[in-house]
Amino acid sequence: MERTFLAIKPDGVQRGLVGTIIQRFEQKGYTLVGLKLMRVSRELAEQHYGEHKDKPFFPGLVNFITSGPVVAMVWEGRGVIANARKLIGATNPLNAEPGTLRGDFAVDVGRNVIHGSDSPENAEREINLWFQTQELVPWEPALTSWVYEM
Ligand code: UDP
Repeated sequence: MERTFLAIKPDGVQRGLVGTIIQRFEQKGYTLVGLKLMRVSRELAEQHYGEHKDKPFFPGLVNFITSGPVVAMVWEGRGVIANARKLIGATNPLNAEPGTLRGDFAVDVGRNVIHGSDSPENAEREINLWFQTQELVPWEPALTSWVYEM
């Protein structure tokens, strides 16, 4: 089973979208294995978005992600890395399809409500950056055989 890292950004928390966003992934059939509400330090923000450090939007992005509480999560399931990205939608919400989280709940690229890992390598890196092993809770949902053909 694959795991990915998702984070509801400060705009998503402020706008009361935490329940809606979690529900979306639950209803898809994915399994929540890690969850915490936290303030992001500048150090964590700069590490997380390290690949963008030379981009013009980087300072604003770090200010934004550290500006209020974030909900950090690890989700598990078949194909969850690529499929969570599909459920999230395009980086710029103006290009995100209706039905995706960014398509339905966001307008501006700098306020796009949720982060999702974009590759298996980044999923592993981000899970290790944001969570300690003991914070992750492996469990077998009782509905597994109704979601997976096995
Ligand atoms: N971002 C921004 N302005 C831009 C491009 C990106 O503020 O012009 C922010 C936006 O919040 C985005 C994040 O930087 O989600 C990371 O960008 P990336 O290209 O990795 O997009 P993502 O993987 O989040 O879709």
